[in-house]
Amino acid sequence: MTDFIPAAKPIVGDEEREAVDRVLRSGMIAQGPEVAAFEQEFSAHFTGGREVVAVNSGTSGQHLGLLAAGVGPGDEVIVPSFTFAATGNSVALTGATPVFVDIEPDYFTLDPEAVRAAITPRTRGIMPVHLYGHPFLVDQIEAIAQQHGLAIYEDAAQAHGASWNGRQVGTLGDFAMFSLYPTKNMTSGEGGMVSCANGDIARNVRLLRNQGMEKQYENEVIGFNARMTDIHAAIGRVQLTKVDGWTAQRQRNAAALNEGLAGLSGVQTPKVAEGAVHVYHQYTVRLDAAERDRIHVALKEEHGVGSGVYYPIPNHRLPSLTKFAPGLELPETERAAREVLSLPVHPSLAEGDIERIVAAVTAVVNAGA
Ligand SMILES: *Cc1c(COP(=O)(O)O)cnc(C)c1O
Repeated sequence: MTDFIPAAKPIVGDEEREAVDRVLRSGMIAQGPEVAAFEQEFSAHFTGGREVVAVNSGTSGQHLGLLAAGVGPGDEVIVPSFTFAATGNSVALTGATPVFVDIEPDYFTLDPEAVRAAITPRTRGIMPVHLYGHPFLVDQIEAIAQQHGLAIYEDAAQAHGASWNGRQVGTLGDFAMFSLYPTKNMTSGEGGMVSCANGDIARNVRLLRNQGMEKQYENEVIGFNARMTDIHAAIGRVQLTKVDGWTAQRQRNAAALNEGLAGLSGVQTPKVAEGAVHVYHQYTVRLDAAERDRIHVALKEEHGVGSGVYYPIPNHRLPSLTKFAPGLELPETERAAREVLSLPVHPSLAEGDIERIVAAVTAVVNAGA
């Protein structure tokens, strides 16, 4: 059999290795000038100069962002259930209550009507996810937030470079979190960035990142150690110079997959909303629920094509989070969890790989028809 095509594959080259070596040789490896430079460059690249703060993971960024925005016990934050568990976890870790609501069926993002129905006097904010790299329905969610005086906190973990009618994701809420985990659209090894709407939130995130200190040993608040190291920042700075090319490649790969899979019965290719720029962290199709798991396994076993189910268990059904939503039913979320399959779309794919993926999906789907 030909080479296995993995579902995700980070690209790390000589420049990243040289950058790490430079930091190691300098003898200064903790948070320092590389982190400060990375923050500046990331902000210029993705958030139109809005202040960003680097942290040691996306999850830390989300948690610290919420704390910095004043979210805590007694508050409710509306979140999707169809996402990675970090979204709801970060709310729960502040002592606030994650309120899980359903998604709309087209783009797998928060359903505006479901959001409206979930608002209570305790609702403090809404944390939508730009899932798979497709922006959430910004106009409708913003209108609801405005009408009810609610904050928006963005989970942009998967959406570096995505936009909505020319507005960059990461600039839409009180804060936005980007993840720099290896499988995301760019990486620093582990890491996260918090884009902040104002200086107060940014200062609070900086304090919480570093034991509550601005001045050494004059701790103002109780904080964490969520610092990024200069080693990680050096990797991220190199990746930042390459990410636009990778995104363009993801978009070309998605277009080629769309074309190859068009008209294949039993496969629904991803949709893109009017005005949205999708950065294809994942290329996610819908399949017949009864066939999905068979197709997932057969792609790997018979054709050497990796794929992924993001996410098989909705957050409100997880043992860790279900206490916040006893007995809750979210029909679109549960249907998506049964139907989705993400095919390789990452920029290390070669042109021949796309043809192989299309041929494999076609063969496996038709074998069940
Ligand atoms: C990856 C991810 C996170 C968490 O980011 P980490 O850097 O892994 O901590 C949060 N939300 C979503 C939707 C993610 O995909």
